[in-house]
Amino acid sequence: MNEPYDSENFCYRIDARDCVASVDTEWLNFNGHPSRQRPPISIWDYISGYEVRHLFKMMFDTARQKKREVSVPFRCDTPTARRFMQLRIEPLDDGCLSITGELVHEEVRNRVDLIAEVERDPERFLEICSWCKRVDLGGDNWVEVEDAVRELNLLSDTSMPTLTHGICFDCMERVEDDVANG
Ligand SMILES: [Zn+2]
Repeated sequence: MNEPYDSENFCYRIDARDCVASVDTEWLNFNGHPSRQRPPISIWDYISGYEVRHLFKMMFDTARQKKREVSVPFRCDTPTARRFMQLRIEPLDDGCLSITGELVHEEVRNRVDLIAEVERDPERFLEICSWCKRVDLGGDNWVEVEDAVRELNLLSDTSMPTLTHGICFDCMERVEDDVANG
């Protein structure tokens, strides 16, 4: 899902076909008005990465089939803040789902260009976990972005590596557990 850098909280609704049915103004400001886009936009257009899609699908299925809320923590960092959020997926009538993200707490930090909108080197790649925003240094060694910048000596670089979105093993396990156990 795109990072709503400009908004702390978001709330939107999808229908039974996973199309965005209604959104709040903060989501609109960030992602653009869906009515300007035809045909109806699918939520999957905003979720990238095979594993991340798998987790969202599992959460949507659980909320719909078991008719109960699914709630998991996630990070939605900005270049200057770590933002600890809670994602809530609630079943509504007719297979619709309400999806909200709420800021739980925020830690301000020095700007980290690794996750800012800066020039990217198209030939270097780093995987970032879509859930906890840690970066894989290789060999499943997931670290905070500040540590990745230091370890990889990125401060001396003129451009940042291209980020690819995946999910780390810890998050995959924890989210699956959270969903399974309600
Ligand atoms: Zn993670």
